[in-house]
Order: sequence, then structure tokens, then C-alpha cells
Amino acid sequence: MKQRLVFLGPPGAGKGTQAILLCKKQGLLHLSTGDLLRAEVKASTPLGLEAAEIMNKGELVSDSLVLSIVEKRLSDFNGGWLLDGFPRTLPQAESLEILLKQIHQPIDAVVLIELKDEVLIKRLLARGRSDDDEAVIRHRIQLYKEKTAPLVDHYNKQGLVNTIRGDGDIEAIASRIEESLK
Ligand code: AMP
Repeated sequence: MKQRLVFLGPPGAGKGTQAILLCKKQGLLHLSTGDLLRAEVKASTPLGLEAAEIMNKGELVSDSLVLSIVEKRLSDFNGGWLLDGFPRTLPQAESLEILLKQIHQPIDAVVLIELKDEVLIKRLLARGRSDDDEAVIRHRIQLYKEKTAPLVDHYNKQGLVNTIRGDGDIEAIASRIEESLK
């Protein structure tokens, strides 16, 4: 199976859930920039303090900040990995490409999980994280469309994208993903 993966998709599409399942099954390193940022916030580190307010508003933290988080973890790691929630902008994707070239670890596949806006909003409201207020959710979906969706084209040009329907039960989605990565 492919070993170096990027998960793309709007907030609420189920990237986190599916990433955890796949990483456990395949022994991949799960790198969720959202989780890593929330851990920094919880520990009140300088980085966390900088990120907290931005995250609660549903804005994106700076490219350089997330890049430093990812770089630290990928640079001296040799196994397979799955990036969840990163890259989220074209500059992040470009910086990632430079980093991956340096460490000779190209992306094997990008998994795009798609779901309708109404379903995303319903799911996120049910989850109830501190940034899951309806206005903030809509803003995050909007930002996804503006800043992150262009990455689909970017990776399509490299022939890397597998598009997966994000509806149905968790196991069904997990099998679609695994099938696409064989
Ligand atoms: P997530 O858990 O992926 O939904 O991320 C939660 C929040 O963390 C986002 O709304 C952003 O504020 C921030 N965040 C996570 N990943 C990134 C990233 N790659 N670039 C910028 N901000 C991010």
C-alpha cells in the first residue's frame, strides 16, 4: 500500500476519523496539524498562545507556524506518514514539496474526501468542539473553498488525487480509501 499520504477535504468530511483508522491499521505516522496545534494551546506554549485566538475564529494560522510543526516531525522520520489538515494553502504545499525533496520522500497519493455542505455543517455542530459554532463553521468551509480546494488541481496535475465519497458509515468509507491506495 502507498505509504506517504495527504488527506484533503472540507472540515467535517471525516478526515481525522479516517486518518486515525488507516494509520493504526497500516502503522503510519498520523500528523494532524489541528491536533498538534490544539496540544500546543492546551500546554499554553508560546506557539499555542499565538494560535489559540486564530483557531477559535476559524481563521488559518500562519504558513510558517504550521510548517515548522510539520518539518520538526518529518525531518528525522523514515517510515510512512499521513498528513491530515496540512497543507491547506498553495504556499504550504510548495514549502512541503521543497522539504520532501530534501528528505527524498515524495507524496505517494492524495486522498480527497468529499461531502455536501449541509452534511458537513450538521456533523460539525454535533461534534461541539470550541471552534464548532455555526458562524465559525461556515467561515471554515468558506476558507476551505478559497484557500485549500485549489490544492486539488495542484495535485491532480501530478496525478496524485483519489477522490472518495465521504457519505455512509465509517467502515464503508475506510474500505473505499484503502481500495484506492492499493
Ligand atoms: P482542524 O483540526 O484540521 O480542523 O484544524 C483546526 C484549526 O487549526 C483550523 O481551523 C486552523 O485554525 C488551524 N489549522 C490546522 N491546520 C492548519 C494549517 N495547515 N494551516 C493553517 N491553519 C491550520
